[in-house]
Amino acid sequence: MDLLPSAGKRHRVPYFALVPAIVVAVLVLGGIALRTTLQIEKARQQTVFDATLTLADERVDRLDKLIIAQDNVVAAHVDVANLSVIARRWLPTAARETPTVRAILVLDMDNEAHDVLAFASRGASGREDDAFRKLLLARLLPQMNFTGDTTELRHLHHVIDQQSLLVSYWQREHMGRKCLIIAWHEVPRLVHEVMPRLFRDLDREKSRMNVIDEEGRIVFGPPIIGGEFTVGRPFPTTLYNWRLQMALTTAEELGEKVERQRLIEILMVGFSALVALAGLAIVVLASVNERRLAALKSDFVANVSHELKTPLSLVRMFGELLLGGRVPNDEKRRQYLQIIVSESERLTALIENVLDFARVERGKAAYEFARGSVAEVATRAVDMYRYRAEREEMTVELTIAEGLPEALIDARALELALVNLLDNALKYAKDGGRVAVAVEAEGGGGGRLAALTRQARQVTIRVSDRGPGIDPDEQKHIFERFARGRRASERQVRGSGIGLALVKHIAESHGGAVRVESPLTDDGRGSAFVVSLPALEHDGEAQERAANAEPVVADPAPDAGSP
Ligand code: ADP
Repeated sequence: MDLLPSAGKRHRVPYFALVPAIVVAVLVLGGIALRTTLQIEKARQQTVFDATLTLADERVDRLDKLIIAQDNVVAAHVDVANLSVIARRWLPTAARETPTVRAILVLDMDNEAHDVLAFASRGASGREDDAFRKLLLARLLPQMNFTGDTTELRHLHHVIDQQSLLVSYWQREHMGRKCLIIAWHEVPRLVHEVMPRLFRDLDREKSRMNVIDEEGRIVFGPPIIGGEFTVGRPFPTTLYNWRLQMALTTAEELGEKVERQRLIEILMVGFSALVALAGLAIVVLASVNERRLAALKSDFVANVSHELKTPLSLVRMFGELLLGGRVPNDEKRRQYLQIIVSESERLTALIENVLDFARVERGKAAYEFARGSVAEVATRAVDMYRYRAEREEMTVELTIAEGLPEALIDARALELALVNLLDNALKYAKDGGRVAVAVEAEGGGGGRLAALTRQARQVTIRVSDRGPGIDPDEQKHIFERFARGRRASERQVRGSGIGLALVKHIAESHGGAVRVESPLTDDGRGSAFVVSLPALEHDGEAQERAANAEPVVADPAPDAGSP
C-alpha cells in the first residue's frame, strides 16, 4: 500500500536528524545524571571514611597521651642529682599515677658497660626484673635512637621472643655525666586494664573496633565486622607497631543503605531514560502518522476532485449533444439520456459518500433505524448499478434467500454501503465479468438451539467478484480511511479511499460487521465483501424499542487511530 507519498520527503530530512539528536541528548542527560549519582555516592562514602578515621585518630591519641602522661610523672620523680630517692618518691603513688609502669631504671651513658645507676620496681618477682635488665642491656639498648635531641622523650616498641615490649626513655645530664632514664611499661597491663577502660564504649557482641599487632593478630577486642568501612590507624609514638582498627558503628547498615540507594538511583535513571525514549518513540510515531494522514488527505482531495470532474464532463458533453440536436436517432437519444442519468447518479453517490464521510469524521453521523428488509435495500442498490454494469459488459446477479428475517436498518445508509461495494466490484473486477450479490441468513436455527443462539442470527449481504483479488497484507488496511490499494494506483482506477471505511462504519453502527474474503478461487482471483447485520426475531420489538430510544451516533473515526 502506497501510504507514504514522496511529497514531504524534504521536510523529513531535518526531522530525522533531530530525532537521533534528541535520543543522544536524552542518553547524555541520563549518563550525566548517573555519573553525578555515583559521584555523590563516592563523596558520601568518603565522608564516612573521614569520620571513621577521625574517631580512630582520637582513640589512638588517647592511649598515647595516657602513656606519655605516666612518663611525665616518672620524669618528675626521677632526680638525677639524687638517684637514691627514686624508689621512695615513686613507689607510694606508683599504682595510682603510673599504673602501667613496672620499673624505672637509670643507666650510665658515659660508661661502655652502661652501669645501672638506679633501679626501682613495683614487681614482686626479682627474677623478672633481672631478666628485663639483661634484655634491656643486650637487646633493647642497641635499638634505641640517640640521634638529635636526646633529652626528649622517646619510645621503643619491640618484639622479643613473641613478647611485645614498650619502654620510654630520655637522657639527663648531671655534672657532666649523661644518664639514660627508662620507664618499663607492662604491655599486658596496657592491653587488659588500660585499653578496656579507654575503649569502654566497645560493644562486645559486634565489635566495631580492635587492636592488631605487627603481624595482623588481634591483641585486643573481637574481630571486626564492617567490611569496606574499616580503617586502621597505628599508635603514633608509643605502641607504634600496633594498629587500631575501626569500623563506623553504622558501617553495616550504611553499606546496605548505600547499596540499596545506588540500585534505586540506577534503576530510576534507567527508568527515566526509558520513559524519555518511549515518549520520544510515541512522538515520532504520532508525527509519522500525522504526516501520512496529511499526505493521504491531500491525495483524497485530488482524487475526489478528479472523480467529480469525470461524470460532470460526461453529463455536460451528452447534454450539449442533445441540446445541439446532433443526435442521429431516438435510440441514441435514449442512450445519451441514460448516460446522463447514470452519471448523475454516480455523482450523487459520490457526493453522498463524501458528505457522509465528513459527518462521520465530525462525529455527527446519526442513523435512524427502523425495522426493514435488507433484501429490498439490496435490490434497489443492484438495480441502480445494472445499467452501468451492462455498459461495462459485466453482469450483476442478485440472489435472495427465502424467508429472510428483517433487521433494524437505516435503509439509506445501508444502500450507500452496498453502492460502495458494487462500485468497487465494477471498478476493480472489470476483467472478472460477473458480480454476485447474495442476501442470506446466517447462524441461529430452530427449536432450543434457536433460543440459545438467537443473538447470533444474522442477515448477510455478500458482494463477490471474479476480479484480481486483494493481497493478504492489503486486506488489513483497505478499511482504513483514505487507504487505497496498490492495484488502484497501478491501474489508475479512480477512487478516494473512503468507500470501505464508510462501509465499515455503517455496518458497525448497525451492530454488525464487514469482512473481506480473498482469493476465492485456486488461481488466486476474486474477492468477496460480506456485510453482516443482526437479524430481528419475531420478538424483536424489544430490540427495536431499545435501538429507537437511543439513536446510534457515529464514532469520530471509523477505524480509530489507524489511518
Ligand atoms: P477506493 O475504491 O476509492 O480506492 P475503497 O475504500 O472503496 O477506496 O477501497 C479501498 C481499496 O480496496 C481500493 O483502493 C482497492 O485497492 C481495494 N478494493 C476494494 N474493493 C476491491 C475489489 N472488489 N477488488 C479488488 N480490490 C478492491
